[in-house]
Amino acid sequence: MIKKNDISDIQSYLSDAANITGNCSFVLFPENTKEIQEIIIDANKNKTPVTISAARTGLTGGCVPNNGILISTEKLNNIISIDNIKKSAIVQAGVLLSELQNNVESKKLFYPPDPTETNATIGGTVATNASGARTFKYGPTRNFIEELEIILPTGELLKIKRGQYFANNFDGTITLSDKKWNLPIPEYDMPNVKHAAGYFCKKNMDLIDLFIGSEGTLGIITNIKLKLLDLPENILSIIIFFEKENDIFSFVKNIKEKSFGELSKIDLREIEFFDENSLNLLKDEFSNIPSNSKGAIWIEQEYTPDVEDEIIEEITETILANNGNEENIWFAMNDKERKNLKHFRHSIPLATNEIISGRNLQKVGTDTAVPDYKFQDFFNYTKNLIIENNLQYVVYGHIGNSHLHFNMLPKDEKEFQLAKKLYGIICAKSVELGGTISAEHGIGKLKTDYLLKMFGEENIKQMAKLKKVFDPNMILNIGNIFDKHFLEKV
Ligand SMILES: Cc1cc2nc3c(=O)[nH]c(=O)nc-3n(C[C@H](O)[C@H](O)[C@H](O)COP(=O)(O)OP(=O)(O)OC[C@H]3O[C@@H](n4cnc5c(N)ncnc54)[C@H](O)[C@@H]3O)c2cc1C
Repeated sequence: MIKKNDISDIQSYLSDAANITGNCSFVLFPENTKEIQEIIIDANKNKTPVTISAARTGLTGGCVPNNGILISTEKLNNIISIDNIKKSAIVQAGVLLSELQNNVESKKLFYPPDPTETNATIGGTVATNASGARTFKYGPTRNFIEELEIILPTGELLKIKRGQYFANNFDGTITLSDKKWNLPIPEYDMPNVKHAAGYFCKKNMDLIDLFIGSEGTLGIITNIKLKLLDLPENILSIIIFFEKENDIFSFVKNIKEKSFGELSKIDLREIEFFDENSLNLLKDEFSNIPSNSKGAIWIEQEYTPDVEDEIIEEITETILANNGNEENIWFAMNDKERKNLKHFRHSIPLATNEIISGRNLQKVGTDTAVPDYKFQDFFNYTKNLIIENNLQYVVYGHIGNSHLHFNMLPKDEKEFQLAKKLYGIICAKSVELGGTISAEHGIGKLKTDYLLKMFGEENIKQMAKLKKVFDPNMILNIGNIFDKHFLEKV
């Protein structure tokens, strides 16, 4: 097993994509389950903290070590099998999402979860229950996980299949050969929105769901069996510009109703939003963005050729009924054209990051989602709050799931502190409206205070109690989701 301890070799393992930084003296690169077991059994015996690091594209410091041992999943990078008949794949945790997608697509199969960052590993996306634009139709990563192999912090190997273990009300029991794990499932209500904050807990839940999105606090995921679908025959991709913001929201409401309705041929897989400030960032590169645009929507739909005309007609009608700019609709019907629209979408976060890194500061971006019927209230509240405080901002994201990223772009340290204060107010508003503080990026070490505010101390204690069943010596991914002192109290 490779061990690196030279600071120049391990420097890049000490921070994540949000530039949250930690420290440790060495990084281990196990190549199989047995090697991980050996590391963890030894660490458990010596009560040495262990942090799991994958592709480090996380944005909340989850993979950043606080001393102890850092285990990288980099060498667990084999696609073990892809089954065309059963439509499933078995992969090691360190396989990159882009690699999986390319492999399954070459076999005419499809893995729908699509966090924007395809350099993430499958293990990382399971640990964070990642999602993306296509979550509108397909839901998050959780929906495509059939089986997990996990090494628990005590070194035991758990293989868990969907449908194998269920909680009885809020009592879960997992039996591993001769050992029984009694799991007190926290009894809080999760918000009824896209949500990736804290443990997934529900009455009578499938216990595999506890591990998905648990941010590496309950065990190290080593192998994963994924559900696949048939690769869609054709995909229609469209960007529509609007001259009034209200027209955008009424368009989204209409097209969502049609998408969920029985009578319409519209069945979108994604609905993405870009505000006026986002479009302004791209005007140099994309001179064809219509002037006077107050925002744009990007939609995609899978289709078979027999209904192509009907779908286009219905979408066009909906665009016109909501005053979309009919002179300037960007249609993409083939792969090359779709890639151009994707490039447009990806250019927005890149342009945003460029501004902020030029200032040597961090952007402060929300990850909140609210119930659909509260979306408009939340949008107006948040936008006005940022404008009243004179901060530069751009808004884009997954409007289909009422989940937008409000990115505040401070110009100096004073504005950065102000943006952080507004961030707390925005999270509180989201929770007040029945939403979540994190819809897809998770809590990591960055947002534990906001999770505490969202769920309250009693519920956080319940989460700590559950973790301690698997991790009695408090060694694994300590500081993720909740602070260590909650573990010490239970
Ligand atoms: C430009 C950009 C765009 C992004 N867009 C999205 C998006 O659209 N949607 C989204 O959901 N996220 C997004 N992210 C965040 C990030 O890509 C996801 O959180 C991703 O799932 C992290 O995967 P990773 O392999 O990089 O994991 P890491 O960042 O290395 O780790 C993330 C967490 O998972 C734990 N972990 C990793 N592997 C394992 C394992 N095998 N077993 C147990 N725990 C493990 C780590 O300890 C850590 O807590 C984006 C990030 C960037 C930089």
